[in-house]
Amino acid sequence: MQRIDSDLVRQCTLCEDLPLGPKPIFQFDVRAKILIAGQAPGRRTHERGMPFDDASGERLREWLGIERATFYDATQLAILPMGFCYPGSGKSGDLPPRPECAVQWRNALLEQLQTLELTLVIGCYALDWHLGKQQRENLTATVKAWQSYAPTRIPLPHPSPRNNRWLKQNPWFEQEVVPYVQQRIADILMSDLH
Ligand code: SF4
Repeated sequence: MQRIDSDLVRQCTLCEDLPLGPKPIFQFDVRAKILIAGQAPGRRTHERGMPFDDASGERLREWLGIERATFYDATQLAILPMGFCYPGSGKSGDLPPRPECAVQWRNALLEQLQTLELTLVIGCYALDWHLGKQQRENLTATVKAWQSYAPTRIPLPHPSPRNNRWLKQNPWFEQEVVPYVQQRIADILMSDLH
């Protein structure tokens, strides 16, 4: 296995045509037990330089039942979006994650996560990669089928306030899936103390 130094990834400038330039944003340590597999940083994350340091992150931490300190502890939790840099936006929102990233870095970083116990999968590109394209009908059906992926992978809707309507229309998510996710994460973090 080719070992990749994450400091090297942070210096990547492979995609020279990114609208705001390359600025890889991710969190990684080979000891991480939980992975958040998302899409790509948005403009705000690009500006702040920290993943999920916004209202989406607040909601995600609520769903996970953890504080910021645990969330940003790379030895516990890795955050590897499908593309590490802000890809720019088009008419219907942010552009897809840059495909160069998976080939150049992400796959190799994933291989180094040898103690991974749980992957939380957010967004259609991450769902395709982590759950398999052929298995996915649409987001709601995929999240509803969460038990077929648990306990090692759990599909989640994006925690963005833009999804408030979806959450209102699908109350089972916060009633059934969130308590499971919280318990699963508590068990993983607790097992570290023993
Ligand atoms: S998106 Fe990935 S491959 Fe492209 S510049 Fe950023 S880190 Fe490098």
